[in-house]
This record gives sequence, C-alpha cells and structure tokens, in this order.
Amino acid sequence: MPEPLPGEHYYRATSVADTYPPLSGATECAVCIIGAGFAGLGTAMSLMERGRCDGDVIVLEAEAVGFGASGRNGGFVFGGFSLGERSLVDAVGLDSARKLYRLTLDAVDLIRRRVERYGIECEAREEGVYRPTGSATSASSIASSASWRTV
Ligand SMILES: Cc1cc2nc3c(=O)[nH]c(=O)nc-3n(C[C@H](O)[C@H](O)[C@H](O)COP(=O)(O)OP(=O)(O)OC[C@H]3O[C@@H](n4cnc5c(N)ncnc54)[C@H](O)[C@@H]3O)c2cc1C
Repeated sequence: MPEPLPGEHYYRATSVADTYPPLSGATECAVCIIGAGFAGLGTAMSLMERGRCDGDVIVLEAEAVGFGASGRNGGFVFGGFSLGERSLVDAVGLDSARKLYRLTLDAVDLIRRRVERYGIECEAREEGVYRPTGSATSASSIASSASWRTV
C-alpha cells in the first residue's frame, strides 16, 4: 500500500485556497471527469473551448484541485518524451515518432496560448532549459533531441 500524499503541496502553498461544493444527490451531465489534475482540468477546458457549457461537464475530485502530481511538479514545460527520441523511434518507427513528438510541441503551444488567453498567473517564462550532460552518450542524445524541434 503506497504512503498517502501529504496534504500540503506547492500549489496549495502558493495559491488562494479554492473550495467547491461536494456533489450531492443524483446529477446528469454529458461528461464526468474524475480528478482535478492537469489531465482532468485540461480536458474540461478543451470541452469548454469546444462549446460545452457549465453543467454539461462535471469534474469530480476526491481531495482538492491539484492534490496529486499536478500540484507538486516542477513546472517545466517542454516537448518530447522522457524515454528519449532514439527509443521512441525504435518503439513506433520514424513516421509515428515524428507525429507523436509533434503532438508534444503542439501541447506546449496550447499551454502557452491558454496562459495568455486566461491570464493565468503562473510566472510563465520562455527562457530555454539547461540540460547538463554526464557522458558523451547523453550529450549526443540531447543534440539529437534539439534537432527534433524542427520536425
Ligand atoms: C515531483 C514531480 C515533479 C514533476 N515535474 C514535472 C515537470 O516539471 N514538468 C512536467 O511536465 N511534468 C512533471 N511531473 C509530472 C506531472 O506532474 C504529471 O504527469 C501530471 O501532473 C499528471 O497529471 P494528472 O492529472 O494525470 O494526475 P494528478 O495531478 O495526479 O491528478 C489526479 C487527481 O485525481 C484525483 N483522484 C484520484 N482518484 C480519484 C477518484 N477515485 N475520485 C476522484 N478523484 C480522484 C487525485 O486526488 C488527483 O487530484 C512531475 C511529477 C512529480 C510527482
């Protein structure tokens, strides 16, 4: 059994506590999303942007908004997958790897657009990222990842 997560976390410590009423009784909606982390809230936002309105979509959260990994993460936003580009190509082939990689860059653009559009106060900065290398292998993997940004 995993240890329960501590109640205090980065998002909670740096934001105004937001509370929402618990769901009571039977309710009908078009879409019910379980979990108010990035995945759940991003999905709700995408539905809203596609014209779904309040009441159409319900987000259920067992604890509080951002209680899971989303409220505790480092806030770094960049494209690619943690397995690295070489392993991605090996797993799915070059064409699919390029398409998947492109999707991650589109996701970064989407996040930036939303930060601007909704005036999200997250101290967003676009200043690149340092990736120190400990070996020739990791240096070559980073060089190859840089070339993927033009796909
Ligand atoms: C320490 C750390 C640092 C990270 N740093 C980065 C980073 O810098 N950049 C990056 O891109 N990614 C980072 N990540 C990864 C990223 O945070 C996660 O991939 C992302 O937050 C996952 O979002 P999620 O919505 O899927 O899950 P979560 O944020 O975990 O949300 C799931 C939510 O569902 C709720 N829930 C679960 N079960 C139920 C249920 N039965 N009923 C109702 N609610 C339920 C939980 O309470 C929780 O709030 C980091 C992760 C960690 C842990």
